[in-house]
Amino acid sequence: MTVNERSLSFPATTASSLNNQLDALTRLHSLLGSEALAHSLDALSEYGFVTGEDGFPRHLNPALEAILGNERCNPLLWLEDRPFGNTLPSSGASGVVWIPQRHGAPIPGFLVSRPVGNERVGIIRELSLEGMAPSSCGTADENELCLELAEQACEGLAAISPDGTLAYLNPAFAQAHSQASVFQLKGSPWKLLLDDEEARRWESEILPSMDFTDSWSGPFAKRQLSLRAAANGNILVSSRELPAENARDADLELAKQETEQLYQQLDEAIAKANQSALEAELSNQAKSAFLASMSHEIRTPMNAVIGLTGVLLASDINEDQRDYLQTIRASGDSLLVLINDILDFSKIESNKMELENLPIDPRCCVEESLELLAEKASSKGLELCYEVKGDIPFGILGDVTRLRQILVNLVGNAIKFTETGQVEVLLQAKEISVEECLLEFEVKDSGIGIPADKQGRLFESFSQVDSSTTRKYGGTGLGLAISKKLTELMGGEMRVESEEGKGSSFIFTIRAATSAPVVYSPEFDNRGRNMVAGKAILVVEPNPVIREKLSSQLGKWDAQVQSCASLAQACSLAAATPFEIAFVDQSYAKHERIRLASTCRQAGADTRIVKVTPYGKSEADDACHSLSKPIKPSALIDVIGKSLQSPERAAQSERSAPAKPHAQLGERCPLRILMAEDNKINQKVARLVLNQLSYQIDVANDGLEVLEKLKHERYDVILMDVQMPNMDGYEATREIAKRFPPERRPHIIALTANAMQGDRERAIAAGMNDYLSKPIRPEKVGQALEKAYHVATAIGNN
Ligand code: ADP
Repeated sequence: MTVNERSLSFPATTASSLNNQLDALTRLHSLLGSEALAHSLDALSEYGFVTGEDGFPRHLNPALEAILGNERCNPLLWLEDRPFGNTLPSSGASGVVWIPQRHGAPIPGFLVSRPVGNERVGIIRELSLEGMAPSSCGTADENELCLELAEQACEGLAAISPDGTLAYLNPAFAQAHSQASVFQLKGSPWKLLLDDEEARRWESEILPSMDFTDSWSGPFAKRQLSLRAAANGNILVSSRELPAENARDADLELAKQETEQLYQQLDEAIAKANQSALEAELSNQAKSAFLASMSHEIRTPMNAVIGLTGVLLASDINEDQRDYLQTIRASGDSLLVLINDILDFSKIESNKMELENLPIDPRCCVEESLELLAEKASSKGLELCYEVKGDIPFGILGDVTRLRQILVNLVGNAIKFTETGQVEVLLQAKEISVEECLLEFEVKDSGIGIPADKQGRLFESFSQVDSSTTRKYGGTGLGLAISKKLTELMGGEMRVESEEGKGSSFIFTIRAATSAPVVYSPEFDNRGRNMVAGKAILVVEPNPVIREKLSSQLGKWDAQVQSCASLAQACSLAAATPFEIAFVDQSYAKHERIRLASTCRQAGADTRIVKVTPYGKSEADDACHSLSKPIKPSALIDVIGKSLQSPERAAQSERSAPAKPHAQLGERCPLRILMAEDNKINQKVARLVLNQLSYQIDVANDGLEVLEKLKHERYDVILMDVQMPNMDGYEATREIAKRFPPERRPHIIALTANAMQGDRERAIAAGMNDYLSKPIRPEKVGQALEKAYHVATAIGNN
């Protein structure tokens, strides 16, 4: 039977007529049994079969046997659409099938089947692909059925006309071979869907082989194709997915590899992202706690090192021992600076740095910063000075600790990198209004300078101009990075101007709300003016910057100022002018100062000499008063006031001057002190430090012991460690607040090893009166105890 003959024998029925036929066969079976059924199947022109319960074919009619040969398999498994899988359906099953021919490509057909008794009977009607082509024969009904079935088929079906264009294609074919639609592809050349290599193969290999066999089957164009030559010259194509074992196409393989690679990268990226998200989350939560505990852990032993070194330094030791101890003390101090820097840096980096917003006097902040570093400067023979240019507000809202930190860092660097000359701080308002101001601070030195090409990286963390400076001067390279960030947090910016070998200027601004009237306090200036206006004053100072600054400050108060750099010059000036006051730098030899004084006397003037001394060396002697550098306008007014008093009163006021701040503090400010601290070393340090201040203390090991002791003893002050076992300092404080009325409550000073933002607030919130962070330093404890004493006497507690 040729393709054509078979297509002509296509019965004039629809799918339902196949079912009618099955109905008849089923009835026959029930009346006459299996043999009659087989006989009837044999007479059919369609392919017919009977399978057993196991699905294995019991009987194939001659038509089916002819194309299958000895092949035996369950025809239901040829069904395209098999929702029942490989298990036989209990009811009827129907659909498109591809009948595997023994010779040639599979034949498309439509199958209907249903169970009869323990068996199943099925009929398959072949689908004529010619019917799909435009030149189809058969009735309109037949064509319609064929087309409908072909349109719904899962395989790609197509007819290629002799001129190579696609005469017909179903949606599955369009989808499998192209991205275009059926409508777009119909009538276009089939070769358009092939690449060069495939087109070459189609022409030179596949078409010629079809000339001999009428059919061809194999992998082509990334699919499994079955081709059959139709009578009208069309080539009928069925296209299925390539069986997996044949999918060795290089493109497919490559694409697969690429996809796998992409998936792997994607997987890794997702894993990394998840990990970092997790870490970020964890680190955010853990950072504050970690910082606090690191600070605590390091400060606790440092407390002992620094505290006990201080105690030893004050004892009777020889020079070598003093030298060693001072080295230990200095190393301990720099370790603490380092810890603080690292803590600050991490806080800024994790956006945890919070700034206070309290009223501060920027001028005082500069003075305090200079005072902290004055000793260091004077030990290097450097001058320190500052100047306020123009009007600045008396008070601003800001964070005094952090502003001081920036200034101390910049001034500290300036001193570190300067061998001779001076370090100046200039302060001025760049913008000023009733509510707000932009203050500019400049720290200027006459030191080694910074090469232009290194200035760009200066503010990066851990950056130092050259590593040999680290060895020579020490440092971490964090100071400037922190200072710049702090400046930015204060709404300003920081920059550097420097010339190698000549010196550097670090300039920064801060923006702040004003909290006190703009302009320099008029009373302050009035006091100065009242004292010196019109008076002849001499300034003898070798450093030109200091000379200029001191003269200009006195000039502001309308004094008649003359200045010079040498005492010889001073003597000739004094011979001509009767000066009321002469400011003379201490670096001039004593006999020269005496010569100046006698020159003044010879000129008939009662000149008061004020000795200008380096920081910390301002001891007045009988002959003259002294003024310590860096010169503060307020100290200048005070010393002028004292100098102009009669000598007797001056001597009297010198005698009544207060004793050194903390010597014998315990006698001046007697207090009963309880120390609550669980760490034995810290107890020892505290006891020794307080003994030096002439205090005897009692010790409690935890909060419970504090409460117990308070039952029997009355204390004025409790130095309360906040972290203790059994009952911590906060809880103990709350308990004390509950048990004692305010006037009988001891003054509680929190002692904490944490230096985190909020510790002070936490201590105050718990009801404590003051706060000290460890390591314990005698000066700080002294100040806190003095304060406590004044509070206690003020409320009549003592
Ligand atoms: P540290 O001083 O702790 O190393 P800084 O961040 O404060 O860290 O300073 C970084 C570097 O900048 C210093 O090591 C030094 O090389 C340079 N530098 C800072 N200030 C000055 C200055 N006034 N003069 C010269 N070099 C300076």
